[in-house]
Amino acid sequence: MQIKTPALPFGKTHPVFADNDITLSKQTDAFFRPDAEVVGAMFDLPDMATWSDPEVFHFGLVRFHRHVLAAIQPPWFQRVYTPDGAGLVKCGCQYLRDKVKEEGYRIARAGWCRHWHY
Ligand SMILES: [Zn+2]
Repeated sequence: MQIKTPALPFGKTHPVFADNDITLSKQTDAFFRPDAEVVGAMFDLPDMATWSDPEVFHFGLVRFHRHVLAAIQPPWFQRVYTPDGAGLVKCGCQYLRDKVKEEGYRIARAGWCRHWHY
């Protein structure tokens, strides 16, 4: 994957985290527009209802303002299971999302990408 610099108005302040199995398209352009501290792009998932909360992001394709990365303390990713261990309550992305929200940062979601392992 190659991202062209002109498409990254926030490129110097918002590092982009992209899985190595995503594909960008014209539908991804919106991902680079919101002026929020965290921005995630959507992609097809087995459970599309996960996108019903506008502050949900999944990796994928996510960018963070550098000051968010400095403020959030590890662990960043941790899966949370039901007490019996049989069910997943939070994926690693949502664990990080909750930490970002607790710190009061703005989360936006915009654009689509193709994520090939789903
Ligand atoms: Zn996730």
